Amino acid sequence: MLLGLGKCAAVEVRRGKLMEEGNIAMVDGREIAMLTTEARYKYLGIQQTFEIKQQENKKHTETQLMERVRKVLRTQLSSKNKMEAINIWALPSLTYTAGVLTWSNTDLQRMDRRIQTTLVQHGLLHPNSATERLYLPRKEGGRGLKCLEGACRKEEEKLKAFFRLSNNPIHQWINSASNPPSSSGQASEGQSEAVSREDTLRQTWKAKPLHGRFHASLHQEDVDIQASNTYLTQGYLYPQTKGTLFAIQDQVVPTRSYTKHTIKQQIDSTKCRLCNNAEESVQHLSSGCSAIAGTKYLSRHDSMGTSDALLAEPHHRVHNFV
Ligand SMILES: [Zn+2]
Repeated sequence: MLLGLGKCAAVEVRRGKLMEEGNIAMVDGREIAMLTTEARYKYLGIQQTFEIKQQENKKHTETQLMERVRKVLRTQLSSKNKMEAINIWALPSLTYTAGVLTWSNTDLQRMDRRIQTTLVQHGLLHPNSATERLYLPRKEGGRGLKCLEGACRKEEEKLKAFFRLSNNPIHQWINSASNPPSSSGQASEGQSEAVSREDTLRQTWKAKPLHGRFHASLHQEDVDIQASNTYLTQGYLYPQTKGTLFAIQDQVVPTRSYTKHTIKQQIDSTKCRLCNNAEESVQHLSSGCSAIAGTKYLSRHDSMGTSDALLAEPHHRVHNFV
């Protein structure tokens, strides 16, 4: 057997402290180099010496995560594919370290907000839009992004389950050392936690005075939710289009009544700029303005008639809010 000394290094630890000693001499005259106290080696993607430097590794992981998020956002992918790419390529650079590096909920929530800010910078999210919708499934009117907190906890749960179910004596020892024997029935805990996290998001979205209005109109009895969210599940829209569309649905665009009542700016009139007859609100502009009823609404109505969703289910109303 030949040792690949180029890939070897030695550290000397005395009483928990790294010592710098001379290289180790082998019988054949070659030497294994001693690692200097500042140097690290990378094992399975984590920088370590005789201990894992948490802060250093966490900082590095976060940098890599944000780099990947930005790289995805700079591509020409559609909105849906960008979210998918973040889920399957960017987030795993962090979730990979779950269970090895200790991430607190505060850490993860802060990074989720950093991702939101980056989405805003790239026009995928309006700064005043409902962030709850980011993390809900597309078929419910969400964007289908994974949140780090949920993804990380799920990964830790999977790791624990691996040790719990393993027959390897070392794994069993690790399991009994890290889990008291009484907590054996927690296999599904991560799952139910994820479900309740989504439920909380749904409730918060619904309860918000402004953002909740779209939730309510989407959940009217005669609205076919699945068909109404086809534009989200099929993912053919430009990211910026979708960001704007969501802002309109969340009613955070500067209509006159939003400017006056929500932003509380002084303006002379809140009457519609087109017809001057009614309050200028998102509802009015999307379906109540007499000035564009004969043109914009008509062409929308006609093109809805040709859509597959409507042909398949003629008795269901498809929610065309904008
Ligand atoms: Zn009008």
